Amino acid sequence: MPVSDIRDSTIHPASTDLAIFYERVRSDAACLLHLKELRWGADLERFCCPNCGSSKGWWLDRRQLAECRVCGKQSSVTAGTVFHRVRTSLRKWFCAVYLLHPNRKRITTMELAKLIHVSYATAWLMLKKLRSAMGTRIEDYGLERLMRVNEAGQRQAASTT
Ligand SMILES: [Zn+2]
Repeated sequence: MPVSDIRDSTIHPASTDLAIFYERVRSDAACLLHLKELRWGADLERFCCPNCGSSKGWWLDRRQLAECRVCGKQSSVTAGTVFHRVRTSLRKWFCAVYLLHPNRKRITTMELAKLIHVSYATAWLMLKKLRSAMGTRIEDYGLERLMRVNEAGQRQAASTT
């Protein structure tokens, strides 16, 4: 998939209409594949093994993980992102990202809870995590941006330890 197509497939709430967005978030598996394409590319052309740095990997369909062809380390596409090990469905997280775009009316915790059918406590946690991941650079706030911000944060954390 060419880079331009990946850009076009970014969930960018300011420019994505609801029908396209809805199709992309039709299942948790679809959301995960979308994250994979954003982060590593459809054929893992931008994959980088966190263990050995190799760029050669393959996708394990059944396990939904990338495996390094050199060292065998398996990596989750959500590792190092705000979506890692979340208990709430990825579809709901994607919807929250969509609803949180600054071009939309500011959303309250209660509104988010009602719109995506989660408890108040879950909505509060999601808002906290997403707003913290967004930081102050909210003008270009889409999933792709969120992945980059979190990867940068992870690299920073790794280099300071
Ligand atoms: Zn490796």
